[in-house]
Amino acid sequence: MSSTWQQQLKQALNNQKHPDFLHQHPQHSTAAAALFSHVIAPDMFDAIDQKNPQDPILKQFLPVADETINTPGFHADPVDDNQATQVAGLIHKYHGRVLLIASGSCAVNCRYCFRRHFPYTKSYAPRNNWRASIEYIKAHKDIHEVILSGGDPLTLETTKLQQLTAALAPVEHVKTLRIHSRIPVVLSQRIDQEFLHWSRQLKLNKVMVLHVNHANELTNKAQAAITKLKQAGYTLLNQSVILKGVNDTATVLAQLSQQLFESGVLPYYLHQFDQVQNAAHFMVDEATSQKIHQDLQSLLPGYLVPKLVKEVAGEKNKTQISL
Ligand code: SF4
Repeated sequence: MSSTWQQQLKQALNNQKHPDFLHQHPQHSTAAAALFSHVIAPDMFDAIDQKNPQDPILKQFLPVADETINTPGFHADPVDDNQATQVAGLIHKYHGRVLLIASGSCAVNCRYCFRRHFPYTKSYAPRNNWRASIEYIKAHKDIHEVILSGGDPLTLETTKLQQLTAALAPVEHVKTLRIHSRIPVVLSQRIDQEFLHWSRQLKLNKVMVLHVNHANELTNKAQAAITKLKQAGYTLLNQSVILKGVNDTATVLAQLSQQLFESGVLPYYLHQFDQVQNAAHFMVDEATSQKIHQDLQSLLPGYLVPKLVKEVAGEKNKTQISL
């Protein structure tokens, strides 16, 4: 019998069943895994080409010694989430939208994650059954969109998500639920009947923003999960981060955009790297990102070119940096 998504997630989080290939990889660093645990869901492990030492999926999830380096100019909270936290687990940075830290867990730990140092145990919205967040949203009538982020919000059981949307249902000024998740691609089994049933009956507009950095991540399983989400009524977008050695060429990004489009997802943002401490080896400098983005525009129709943006701490919106 195949394992449930909960079992797969638990195994990934407990570092169980990590195939020997990862632990015995010559670049695997136990010291780096002690700083930020090594988590990789089975769908992503299966997508690694083990014969390719430069595999773009392996690079995103393998803890390596470079992570133990402290680099000047890199920070634990590069986008100033702590400053914008209004109540535990609720970040209100941008007009009309709030972001809820719905979970402290992910089905993969991306080594470049800008929240790799985030104090999840202190700042976690579902604590007290979302009550503090709901009260804040009710009191701020300009909030029309609630964004679930994390960690990955789809690590929560569907009943926990139901609890939130039931509490939001009477709040008339909230029109849209947006979910930021890597899970449909890395743990496709999570997109199960219970989740789809909950999604279909929602009265809110539904947006899901995936996080895919390379076309190799769009496996057959991921594409099947994406199709189910589309059929359940989600508007599907993607955000990527430009990462050294993973997707820092216009050709690779063009393939990603085309593959996303084939799957029914529109490219939305291409993020300039947030300067998070212990991940400086992924950094592509801004001028190089701009040049790559310019080249990308010459390869694709405009609707497949994601916006090149960076997050500037304290700014009221993301800053477009394309040439
Ligand atoms: S899935 Fe998102 S929140 Fe989780 S580790 Fe990756 S980048 Fe960070």
